[in-house]
Amino acid sequence: MNIAVITLFPEIFNAYLKESILGKAVQKGMISVDVVNLRDFAKDRHRTVDDSPYGGGPGMVIKPEPVSDAIGHVKSDGVDTLTVMLSPQGRLFNQDMADAFLKETRRLLFVSGRYEGIDDRVSSLIDDEVSIGDYVLTGGELPALVIIDAVARLFPGVLGDGESLKDESFMWGILDYPHYTRPPEWGGRKVPEVLLSGNHKEIARWRRKEAIRRTLKRRPDLIEKAALTEEDYRLINEIKEEEDGYD
Ligand code: SAM
Repeated sequence: MNIAVITLFPEIFNAYLKESILGKAVQKGMISVDVVNLRDFAKDRHRTVDDSPYGGGPGMVIKPEPVSDAIGHVKSDGVDTLTVMLSPQGRLFNQDMADAFLKETRRLLFVSGRYEGIDDRVSSLIDDEVSIGDYVLTGGELPALVIIDAVARLFPGVLGDGESLKDESFMWGILDYPHYTRPPEWGGRKVPEVLLSGNHKEIARWRRKEAIRRTLKRRPDLIEKAALTEEDYRLINEIKEEEDGYD
């Protein structure tokens, strides 16, 4: 997968892209990330990319020309490109969007803003606008990395144990089950006995049930949308019988 990022802070990407799962995806050639410095497209000798807002008010706005030139530079090789602006005003990023980006055959070009954002006229060059949450960050670099990370770990073979994707939160529309490792007792709390039983069928059932229990408690909105099986509904009934307070 071919990814490009336009940013005023290329070093942020260079550090993160070397590490861990993303580093592995880059090393294995599954992902290549071209980091383009927006400042290289400034026109004056001070390398200015921002200016004060028309109409007054605080902060600075990124000028349209350098952004347009940087996008033009990335696209100049003729590769079909999906240009994505990072913005708190965009579509809210989620696991389904990570899946969709994974399947994208076009190059993904992420445009990171700073300051008050980018001159709105640039929207004519943007195919999609994505937010990573309902809060405002200082720049689009972390959101771009969040999205690249979420997509990269979906590539088969990127994670150490390919199976570990299967049960993760959101993969089946619900949260992950609780995890335990040695010692079998810690702080007066024992690991659930079934996990030590070696009975894989029972373990799988327990995990599914606990995943559903967690989702009911923490994210009931997900349960409403999840594709549940008949067995899942049986588990929900069991949970309801076990716990007070659900109806
Ligand atoms: N004035 C803008 C607003 O209120 O919508 C916020 C600008 S923010 C300080 C600067 C840049 O950070 C944005 O242009 C965007 O690229 C990025 N950014 C901030 N929060 C974000 C979020 N939740 N998701 C994606 N990008 C974000």
